[in-house]
Amino acid sequence: MKLTIPTEEDIQYLNAELAEMSAKERLAWAAKTFTPGIAVSTSLQTQSVPLLHLVSEVCPEMPVIFIDTGFHFPETLAFRDAINECCHLNIQVIHPTITKEQLERDYGKDLYRRDPDLCCYINKVEPMQRATEQYQVLVVGVRHDQTNHRSALRVIERRFTGPVRVHPIIDWSQEDVQNYIEEHNLPIHPLSSQGYPSVGCAPCTQPVSADQNGERAGRWVGKEKDECGLQVEFSGQ
Ligand code: SF4
Repeated sequence: MKLTIPTEEDIQYLNAELAEMSAKERLAWAAKTFTPGIAVSTSLQTQSVPLLHLVSEVCPEMPVIFIDTGFHFPETLAFRDAINECCHLNIQVIHPTITKEQLERDYGKDLYRRDPDLCCYINKVEPMQRATEQYQVLVVGVRHDQTNHRSALRVIERRFTGPVRVHPIIDWSQEDVQNYIEEHNLPIHPLSSQGYPSVGCAPCTQPVSADQNGERAGRWVGKEKDECGLQVEFSGQ
C-alpha cells in the first residue's frame, strides 16, 4: 500500500499535536500511522539507546537500519550485539557499495582526511538513501541540544528528498537520555566512559577533553563539519 505523504500544512498541524505527546506516544503514533512504510535509523551510540528501547516496547518488528561504514570502532559493533541482546530489535546492517580497499584504490589513501564530505557520502549517505528507498517515513533519535542544525528541527519534518523524518526524542536533553538509561538499566557504549560522549567512525572521532564543550565536540575535530550528511539535506557530491 502506498502511503499518502503529509503536506506541509499537515506537518504543521501534526507538530502542534505531537509537541504535547511523550516520546513513547510519538513513536506509537508513527508506528500505527505509517507501518509498513516506516523504519528507524541508528548510529548505535549511548544516546541511541533510549529510542531503541522505546522501539523494543512499542514496535519491535520495525526495521532498525544501521550503516556499517567499515570504519567503526570494534566497541561499536560489540555494542550493537549488547543492545540487540537486551532489546531484541530487527536490526538491518547496510554496507557501502565499495569496500575500504576499493575506496583507497579509487580515491586514494585516507579520503576521510582530505574530503570527509565525500567519504561520508560514499560510506553513509548513499547507503542510507539506498536502504530507505522503500520507506516513506524514517524515525531518527536526534535532539535539539546536539547541533545548530538539529536545534531547529520539529518532531515531524518533510525533506526535499527521501522519507519524512520523525524525531520522537527531539526535545530531550542529554540528562534525560542518561536518566532513561539508568532508570531502565540499559547498556552504554563501552567508549562513553573513556571520554567519548559521541562515537562515530574511528578515524573521525576523538575523546573530548574537559575544556571542550558539546556532545559532538570530538567529531571531525579541526574540520568545519559537525554532521555526516544523514541529518541535513545533501546537496551533491
Ligand atoms: S565519519 Fe569519517 S570515516 Fe566515517 S564516513 Fe565520514 S569521513 Fe568517512
